Amino acid sequence: MKITRRSFVKGAGAATAVGMIGTPFIALGASKKVVVVGGGTGGATAAKYLKLADPTIDVTLIEANKHYYTCYLSNEVLSGDRTIDQIKFGYSGVGKHGVKVVHDIVTGIDAGKRVVKTKGGKSFNYDRCIVAPGVDFKWDTIEGYDANVAETITHAWKAGSQTVTLRKQLLAMKDGGTVCITAPPNPFRCPPGPYERASQIAHYFKQHKPKSKIIILDPKPKFSKMGLFTQGWKDLYGYGTDNSMIEWHGTPKGSDDNVLSSIDAKTRTATTGFNEVQADVLNVIPAQKAGKIAFAAGLTKGDWCPINLHTFESTIHKNIHVIGDAAIAKGMPKSGYAANSEAKVCAASIAALLNGHELGTPAYVNTCYSIIGMDYGISVAAVYRLAEDGSKITKVSGGLTPKDASSEMRAREVQYAYSWFDNITNDAFN
Ligand SMILES: Cc1cc2nc3c(=O)[nH]c(=O)nc-3n(C[C@H](O)[C@H](O)[C@H](O)COP(=O)(O)OP(=O)(O)OC[C@H]3O[C@@H](n4cnc5c(N)ncnc54)[C@H](O)[C@@H]3O)c2cc1C
Repeated sequence: MKITRRSFVKGAGAATAVGMIGTPFIALGASKKVVVVGGGTGGATAAKYLKLADPTIDVTLIEANKHYYTCYLSNEVLSGDRTIDQIKFGYSGVGKHGVKVVHDIVTGIDAGKRVVKTKGGKSFNYDRCIVAPGVDFKWDTIEGYDANVAETITHAWKAGSQTVTLRKQLLAMKDGGTVCITAPPNPFRCPPGPYERASQIAHYFKQHKPKSKIIILDPKPKFSKMGLFTQGWKDLYGYGTDNSMIEWHGTPKGSDDNVLSSIDAKTRTATTGFNEVQADVLNVIPAQKAGKIAFAAGLTKGDWCPINLHTFESTIHKNIHVIGDAAIAKGMPKSGYAANSEAKVCAASIAALLNGHELGTPAYVNTCYSIIGMDYGISVAAVYRLAEDGSKITKVSGGLTPKDASSEMRAREVQYAYSWFDNITNDAFN
């Protein structure tokens, strides 16, 4: 029998289906089903881009919530420069591309039978599955802290109701009060995020509560874009003087100086190896790990999911791909832009694999903007390639905002940040 490209693709579909005899998958005769678990930045982008790569792929996106609140620019909600509704997105845009959107919680993935199961009692068969659940928190690392306590002593590290609670606490705080932010250990979602948060709160205080203070307790000796942040804090908030609005307390390697061990929710006190801070507003950002479903599906090694960096296919379970914060994308940060970029590489790879095409050569990109204050933005940008041996994602070019940037350039960075936000949310959700 002569094998044409068409019959090869059909044959590949049939071969995939052999293990699924008797399921509706066979009855419907479909051969290219992808189920995406989690419709955040990574999952929504992947679902949409799969449809763009090959409209004949049957794509189902299962997301727990009806609306997604972006973490990016959620720190501006804390300063009052942005409303919570301005970071809220729905799923009708993704649906317009032909993606079937289901709102439910995925409770299990059977990698052998290729079935995704939900809390609502539904089962979804797949040829390939993409898992993009974001992060979960390591509650047990902080005595006195758990998901219930976090409703009042917020983390606000998943944007939404806690972002609103934290904003209300800042509004209610007296001038001259203290905010304490406890930063998480590496690796965690959005490395510059805690420091942008401190900056945005200072930006609000400078205008409305100038006698107030922000104390950051950090278990690390240094942090992302540290030079640019501290320069911005000096320029805007008196950093380094007795009157500084922001104090950063790091931890030298090997010590536990500012490693958070416990909190007292009643008195809003954070206790570390060396310090005890009683705050008016306490914001605890715990250590992180891959989202719960990644553990339930057996996709983790340690706290995160090991993957093939070319296709994002799990190295533990075949036909399941993991993208975004949950994945070990060696060389890339855990950011929304990285999740968006990984989603596109993954979608292109899956479309190629399902159609028996050769895989392309991937490139990845990331830019992180941080807004430090009025007309004062900074950024770090990078373009990456896969290393020849596939062992890591390597930076091939990039840069930081120069230290001696003009005030016009810093103001322009803020406008770039807003433009980036419009573009990425449009790319993922429209
Ligand atoms: C304060 C802050 C500021 C940030 N700023 C930036 C920035 O400026 N630039 C940037 O690039 N990144 C930024 N980030 C990081 C960015 O938000 C994350 O890296 C990004 O959201 C990761 O995308 P993801 O798809 O992996 O996870 P998420 O976007 O968190 O999406 C996960 C989705 O999966 C769903 N889900 C989880 N489990 C299940 C389940 N079992 N069943 C169904 N659905 C499920 C969740 O409901 C969620 O919608 C920031 C983060 C924070 C906290």
